[in-house]
Amino acid sequence: MPHTSPYRRRSRGAFLLVAEPARYPAARPRLLMLALLLASLGLAVAAGQPRSAPAAPASVPTSAFSPPADVAAPPIMRKLVRGDVSRPEVALTFDDGPNPATTRLLLALLRMYRARATFFLIGDSVRQRPELVRAMVADGHAIGNHTARHARLLPLETEQVREEIAGCDAALRRCGVVTRLFRPPGGRYDDRILDVVNAAGLTLVQWTVNPGDYTRPGADVIADRVLDQTTNGSIVLLHDGCEQTLTALPRILHTLAERGYRCVTVDEMLERAGGGADRGW
Ligand SMILES: [Zn+2]
Repeated sequence: MPHTSPYRRRSRGAFLLVAEPARYPAARPRLLMLALLLASLGLAVAAGQPRSAPAAPASVPTSAFSPPADVAAPPIMRKLVRGDVSRPEVALTFDDGPNPATTRLLLALLRMYRARATFFLIGDSVRQRPELVRAMVADGHAIGNHTARHARLLPLETEQVREEIAGCDAALRRCGVVTRLFRPPGGRYDDRILDVVNAAGLTLVQWTVNPGDYTRPGADVIADRVLDQTTNGSIVLLHDGCEQTLTALPRILHTLAERGYRCVTVDEMLERAGGGADRGW
């Protein structure tokens, strides 16, 4: 897996921050302003403060159908709801990307605060914007499967559930990504779906903190909810494509760092979970 220098990424990212929203009619003027602000901030950070050596890239197993090396049995966790409550670690997760209007901005913010995150991606969007997926991986973020078309799984036949999972898996593999993480759209699943997910070599990932950013409650409300509810091992549900989430993120990332939390990927949480219980801790 190629790992691009953060310096090169930073400067390229800064350029794209300015250029990208203009190419998409859906992007709003406020997003463009945010992009310009981020670009200037990014350049200032790059000029004034050399970044320390980049951490190791997110671990990407060579095959989704092989158990992680450090997990004897069961080969994968049935599901993960939270990480280790004894560690000041938080997993920020962003669903429904990649998104041409917001993903670059999101990546720039995460880079600025040196935070790792996990993106649960929709297969159809991955096919349309593979370069955004590669940018996520290059920045050390983890990737998860969020079905091929963002299908609600409960009403589907089992074979259709398999196809939704396989469709996203194939799109990700074309980008060089093999994941062992899955999140069902809407968070809805039952034992039958869980069985299909596990049989595909995937751990179903839920969350402990849901600020409801998709209901557009306002950036301050999103930030307050996340910061009020986050504790050791929290998994936070957020969305790529939500402008208010982008606006809320600087305060979220700044305050979490101030409180001593480290933003890690779900993959990192899973590594620590080892062959443990089916719910995390
Ligand atoms: Zn979703």
